[in-house]
Amino acid sequence: MQFDQLGLSADLLKAVKDLGYEKPTPIQQKAVPVILEGKDVMGAAQTGTGKTAGFTLPMLRRLEVYANKSMSPARHPLRGLILVPTRELAIQVFESVKEYSKYTSLKSSLVYGGVNIDSQIAVLRSGVEILVATPGRLLDHIQQKNVMLSNVEYFVLDEADRMLDMGFLPDIKKILNLLPAKRQNLMFSATFTDDIKRLAKQFLNDPVVIETSKRNSVSNLITHRVFSVDRNRKSDALIRLINEKKIDQAIIFTNTKSSSDQLAKKLLKHNLAAAAIHGDKNQLQRCQALNEFKQGDIRLLVATDVAARGLDIAELSCVINYELPNNPEDYVHRIGRTGRAGAKGYALSLVSSDEQKYLVEIEKLIQKKIKVETFDKENESGKTNRSKRRPPKEINQSKPSQSVEKKNTILKYPDIEVIYFNGEYSVRKNTLAAVKADPLFTQPYISDQSEDTSTPIRLKLEKDALKSIPALFYPAFGKGISAKKRKA
Ligand code: AMP
Repeated sequence: MQFDQLGLSADLLKAVKDLGYEKPTPIQQKAVPVILEGKDVMGAAQTGTGKTAGFTLPMLRRLEVYANKSMSPARHPLRGLILVPTRELAIQVFESVKEYSKYTSLKSSLVYGGVNIDSQIAVLRSGVEILVATPGRLLDHIQQKNVMLSNVEYFVLDEADRMLDMGFLPDIKKILNLLPAKRQNLMFSATFTDDIKRLAKQFLNDPVVIETSKRNSVSNLITHRVFSVDRNRKSDALIRLINEKKIDQAIIFTNTKSSSDQLAKKLLKHNLAAAAIHGDKNQLQRCQALNEFKQGDIRLLVATDVAARGLDIAELSCVINYELPNNPEDYVHRIGRTGRAGAKGYALSLVSSDEQKYLVEIEKLIQKKIKVETFDKENESGKTNRSKRRPPKEINQSKPSQSVEKKNTILKYPDIEVIYFNGEYSVRKNTLAAVKADPLFTQPYISDQSEDTSTPIRLKLEKDALKSIPALFYPAFGKGISAKKRKA
């Protein structure tokens, strides 16, 4: 299906074309016609599926009849209200609304807490047809009579599950009570818990349920890698991972605000441009960190779950779980920052022994077993280890015919080199082999469920090896992680 088959106007199609969207995503294909028919929608859509355009484009299409260039606030009553849980998501959704509506005369704005209210008042009083808002600040404006909800025709509750997690239910109920009875309601949520269904019953009228992917399913384009690491060695392991894998940009998730602060500090000490983003940071700090990250000035964004909710950073190819989330559904949300809109992504997790139980829960939820790999402690310094001990057992098993003890020599094996010098053995990784044998980082990922089943997987890898690979994962030549068979 193409965009021009969805029933959108020429102005909206032009805006979509400017953004380079070629085809509507599955949620857009399903949601746009239903919303244009005027039906309520309950959408189970993960972040990254294109749901924002899925609800914004048809809303704009229906509001276009009201577009006018009058300077009078009375000619621009609020008609479309989009409620979101976080300031970051409000900014993002508003940016999308602005992009999609740029060829129309519809006015839009956003309001969120944590910033001075005055500039928001001025804009609201000048009249806007579409408002993106967080619940608390919207209620402040309603109380101050800066905005009225009596003309709202479209009400969107985005990321409803996170709204409930964040305790916004009482605010949502107050807002619902102020909306006119005759309106169209759209609710989107990554999960459909019983609480969400209860909430849906309260304000959706006979909704069309739209599900584009299984609940909590993750994109096939995401490669999961789990590294087993001692808890007290995690930050060193992370730095090594970033440097060795030449990770250009990543969001790193921690479970607490304090650990995100500490980690960001440590990364900075190691000359890695990083910033922490969490609920204790003020709005200015959060926006600044996000902007710098988007512009590439900051390489690593260390975030907690709530702060990162809804972030959409174009072409982010890597998410790192510095700590596994206690709630497996948060893993799905976290890694949903990558592998978006058809792009490949990598979800890397550093897992200590006390977190194994969370890994089991995650595997159950995503219905996928993730191989646990180990960091080679012996070679963490990157230097060759010298010792008087015998070479490792596996080397003895496949001993070459010549005697290694007699003369100073280097024996090359597929993965390693054994150096015998003045009666001492040392083992060095054969880094070239390591690079070749680490296909997840050096080859484009091919989904198990690839539609093309005609070519055997090995051939596909060889063929695809010629294609460009994300810069992020160019192997650090000469420093690759051990290619030794890692324990499953
Ligand atoms: P969302 O799920 O709404 O947060 O959207 C995720 C990303 O997908 C955003 O960067 C959108 O700009 C992008 N996007 C939305 N619709 C399309 C489309 N039809 N084709 C390509 N990218 C899209």
